[in-house]
Amino acid sequence: MENREKLVIRSRAIFTADEKYPTLLDGYIVIDDGKITKIESGDLPQTSFAPENEVLDVGEDLVLPGFVDPHTHLVHGGSRELELDMKLAGKSYMEIHEIGGIRSTVQATRSMNEEELYNKAKASLDRMLTFGTTTVEAKSGYGLDKETEIRCLEVGQRLNREHPADVVGTYMGAHALPPESTANTKGYVEFMLTEVMPEIKERKLAEFCDIFCEEGIFDIETSRYYMQKAKEMGFLLKAHADEIVPLGGAELAAEMGAVSAEHLMAISDRGIEMLAESGTVAVLLPATTFFLMADKYAPARKMLAAGVKVALATDYNPGSSPTENIQVAMSHACFGMGMQPEDILHAVTINAAHAIKRERTAGSISIGKNADILITDVKSPAELIYRFGVNHIVRVYKRGRLAAEQGRVCYE
Ligand SMILES: [Zn+2]
Repeated sequence: MENREKLVIRSRAIFTADEKYPTLLDGYIVIDDGKITKIESGDLPQTSFAPENEVLDVGEDLVLPGFVDPHTHLVHGGSRELELDMKLAGKSYMEIHEIGGIRSTVQATRSMNEEELYNKAKASLDRMLTFGTTTVEAKSGYGLDKETEIRCLEVGQRLNREHPADVVGTYMGAHALPPESTANTKGYVEFMLTEVMPEIKERKLAEFCDIFCEEGIFDIETSRYYMQKAKEMGFLLKAHADEIVPLGGAELAAEMGAVSAEHLMAISDRGIEMLAESGTVAVLLPATTFFLMADKYAPARKMLAAGVKVALATDYNPGSSPTENIQVAMSHACFGMGMQPEDILHAVTINAAHAIKRERTAGSISIGKNADILITDVKSPAELIYRFGVNHIVRVYKRGRLAAEQGRVCYE
């Protein structure tokens, strides 16, 4: 922040995502040294126009906390547009999985060196930033061998250091069985637990670990065993649960005290109850449902009515959701799942921050948090959702610095 003390942002419609303030605050925010130091209602006092302050009055334009995308597979090689023909011929995700699917991405990822993976992921992270995402979770899971999994997590950490967006690492070796051990689930699980995860823990390459708990991938018993061991090692837990069949993954995530359960298109009523009781965040991925041409979205409204904390994410990945734009997930949350605009905004801000344990520093416009702030070109949450398919983010501030403007990154 060159030559100035503070940044002051004034708007008639600030969605803070902080319960202490009205849903849409008519007021201003003061940012000092990258943090939010003051939030007030009403007009700017004369003192805010001191020469050292930069004052930005956006009139009636909606101001938001930076979006948090709590489920992405950011670092990977390759692209899978060749599967589009198979999709259009009616093959399901699991049928494509059988003949290539994840495995083709594994091959592409293994063949790329650190610099190549970094450049590809950085381009995606830049794109996310221009759509308003300032904090991103990044799962590994397209290497499946030790070396590549670690390389992908290292790329995530390097992006976290060098890119304005915050990147939170999740180890997801349990994404699929690697091509070299398709018949040996037990052996692969032991390999992860004894050969890979101690080093990841030791080098602090990931805070979370995640498992694809699904029929034909990792069953409930294997998932429970893996999660228990991972927990003992000090990992925070996540699970890809009940995506295709109601296997009981949500119940298992709640039972294990997981921070989040993700996908949940096929969640049972008991699973919903248990998530509400345990406080496990439901991370819903409606862009994936749309892309898979599935006929059933996750029952978001039922979950909200039951008191489940609902978050939304892109699921950015080459096989089932190749978009970096969280506003796409927000559109499908409304038009596919029937979520209200304000619930959608909570789901991509404070609830998403809870899903990756960043609720103390991100996810709302609150005093003491990082000044991750978005300026939009709309006047209300309803207009933001209603005008779908365009980028509504005009400016992105990350820790008080302008990081993207009019769809282009502009950080140093
Ligand atoms: Zn995923």
